[in-house]
Amino acid sequence: MVIVGSEKLVGIIGTMAQQPVTPARARRLLIEQGFPPVVDKEVIKRWTLGSVGGKLRRMGSKPTLALRQAVFRLEREGKLRTSGLKRPEPEVTVTGVTRGIEHWSEMRLLRGQELSAALIRDHYAKQFRSAGGAGEQLTDVCRRILTKAAMEDRLTKCPEKTNFLVLFSGWQSTAQPSLKLGLTAINAEIDAEKTVSVQQGLVAAVERPTDLSLAREGEQVKYACQQQGVRVNTVGIVEGSHPCETFSNSGHINTERGCNYQFPSGAPRPGPKKQKAVNHRRMAANMVQSVKEWIVAGAMRGEQLYCYLEQGQTSTLKKLKSRAKEGEQQKSAFEGLPPPVTVDYCQYKVQLGKSLKYPARKSTSIWTNIRGWTPRRCPGKAQCQHHACKAGATEDRIKIPGFTVGAAENWIPEELHLSILEAAVRPR
Ligand SMILES: [Zn+2]
Repeated sequence: MVIVGSEKLVGIIGTMAQQPVTPARARRLLIEQGFPPVVDKEVIKRWTLGSVGGKLRRMGSKPTLALRQAVFRLEREGKLRTSGLKRPEPEVTVTGVTRGIEHWSEMRLLRGQELSAALIRDHYAKQFRSAGGAGEQLTDVCRRILTKAAMEDRLTKCPEKTNFLVLFSGWQSTAQPSLKLGLTAINAEIDAEKTVSVQQGLVAAVERPTDLSLAREGEQVKYACQQQGVRVNTVGIVEGSHPCETFSNSGHINTERGCNYQFPSGAPRPGPKKQKAVNHRRMAANMVQSVKEWIVAGAMRGEQLYCYLEQGQTSTLKKLKSRAKEGEQQKSAFEGLPPPVTVDYCQYKVQLGKSLKYPARKSTSIWTNIRGWTPRRCPGKAQCQHHACKAGATEDRIKIPGFTVGAAENWIPEELHLSILEAAVRPR
């Protein structure tokens, strides 16, 4: 009897047949192809890339890239030995080489080896010297591979980059967590007056008056660093929590308070607040674009840089579009970042190690390429240990001397920063 219960065997057969197969079909296929009806577990263990390839050739088909990848995946998982066998060679076409390079890069990353644009270029040049016009394509290939890896948190960590840039630093809830993790917070704000040490003495923060609205397109990170007198390549993490007032869909801000920034669709509403709404949309889109470009620039050098961007879940910020190039359709400003995750503030402490208070629920979206932390959600009013789950209710807000209730409402809990930052600085 064929050992068709083996996931590995069924997987390999499925790849040969180029479609998923059931164990019963796998067995029929094997017998049809002239395999002995009895394959014992020991034989399967000895299957290698070469022997699978040989079997495929006897079956009159060529091992496809998909099969090679499947076999290498099995090898990685320790289910198959391929020792002494050659790595897949790319085909001699630009596309073939590109796919080969992508495969090679993937393998390096999965084995925890370094990868950079220079390394990919070198490998590419060896593989394919005569590709006409390949230079430009090569840059695209490098960028695509390395961006994907950076967004999946798979490049080399940079523990020496201890500067932590906080865009729109506001009430500086990053102060305590930075201190705890040995990071230096570099604060930057919209208007000069707001960039002040509201948590003086808590953190080694660098801050000089900065107006982020003055940053050129794609240069907000660079601009903030220049203004603060910090070299951009000393920054390893960027946090961005753009002011939410012009994006908030909540009635009490948008209409009841008479702010009237926008329609529920997010489109700016004509009137006295329109210019501010338009300015904020531009500045927020610039924040997202600048952070992405900073990560990609690091990735091209093979460096893993991190970001996390937060905004209330009902905010229309997530509908933000990037500025379209001529002849192109507008895309989401967040395209290229991993999809956002949701957390509830009531699950995170404020004032680490002090009052151990929890804020109101406030569901919040976080866009980040930092892996290895678990977003916490409120289990609901009945089960929540921390608060009455009445988001926005005054009695639930943190009361800290010197802070208005309005400020406390939007303050990101320190423990949330800590949980994300810890994952970023933790060695793999
Ligand atoms: Zn709760």
